Amino acid sequence: MGGVAIRLRAWSEASALDRALASAERDVASFEQAASVFRPDSFISQLNRAQGRALPASDQLVAIVSEAVRLAHESSGAFDPTVGPLVRLWRDAARAERVPTAPELAAARAHVGWQHVAVSPRPPTIALRGDAQLDLGAIAEGYLADRLAGLLRAEGIARARIDVGGDLLMFDDRVAKEPFRIGIRHPSAEGLLGELELDSGAVATSGCYERFAVVGGKPRCHVIDPRSGQPVEGTLSATVVAPSGIDADALATALLVLGAQPGLELVSRLPGIDALVVTRSPTGDGIVLAASAGLTARFTLRAKLP
Ligand code: ADP
Ligand code: MG
Repeated sequence: MGGVAIRLRAWSEASALDRALASAERDVASFEQAASVFRPDSFISQLNRAQGRALPASDQLVAIVSEAVRLAHESSGAFDPTVGPLVRLWRDAARAERVPTAPELAAARAHVGWQHVAVSPRPPTIALRGDAQLDLGAIAEGYLADRLAGLLRAEGIARARIDVGGDLLMFDDRVAKEPFRIGIRHPSAEGLLGELELDSGAVATSGCYERFAVVGGKPRCHVIDPRSGQPVEGTLSATVVAPSGIDADALATALLVLGAQPGLELVSRLPGIDALVVTRSPTGDGIVLAASAGLTARFTLRAKLP
């Protein structure tokens, strides 16, 4: 999806890995063809031009879009797969080195809302109401990690570490499991913030350190709060541990938007989910860590905190 690096580490026979890689290549290509907003002929691009009409969709797309809608609902719209018009508005404004005007913001916000996405499983169709635009970019990495895990397991591979553009998924189906060690990047300094130890599951981090643009003299986060239309401020990064990659990916974006306290409140209501949220300290010269109990138990701090 737009040139994301996929790294696999598998403990297996070479032939099983070769077969898994061949089917993984086909699977990633077919998903990209269906879901990329950069391809005018993709299903998602056609849907974005369909002006409210319901289009027949594959079971795969119905499944991922249903999941996206469920996660948007669960996160009270902090994660929203229809946020595209706001992302584009801020990106275009950044190119022109200005801040969007109030009317521009209002116009973009009018089209944003996950409630406009209508998915029906039988027959499988998807429709977008109210000029909404769908973009699965924020969950594509986690979703692909889930697919790849399925393909590796189907070839009998018992232990693997899958990295799709920085989103991780690990599994170990052997009787004698060995935990995986995962480095969590420091959001505002070089090097590691800490390490997580996990037997299995997905880890995704969404941070404001990666793709910001300077608008109006200050750096703006590439993740937008769909509720206000403004780029995220204050939260530096959010790391989420979840059983599936798609959940970890979407919830990491949601927690970056929600911030530490509301974010951890959301996580406490979701079974099997843990999180670490890093915010700028009130004085602005340090960072503050907030984590769920499950994550704290598996986390070792490596950075020096002021
Ligand atoms: P990345 O993929 O850059 O590591 P994310 O997984 O958090 O980080 O996805 C960020 C991308 O998702 C943004 O570049 C933007 O296109 C889109 N996006 C921005 N804000 C939101 C949001 N609130 N909900 C869903 N997608 C978003
Ligand atoms: Mg993502």
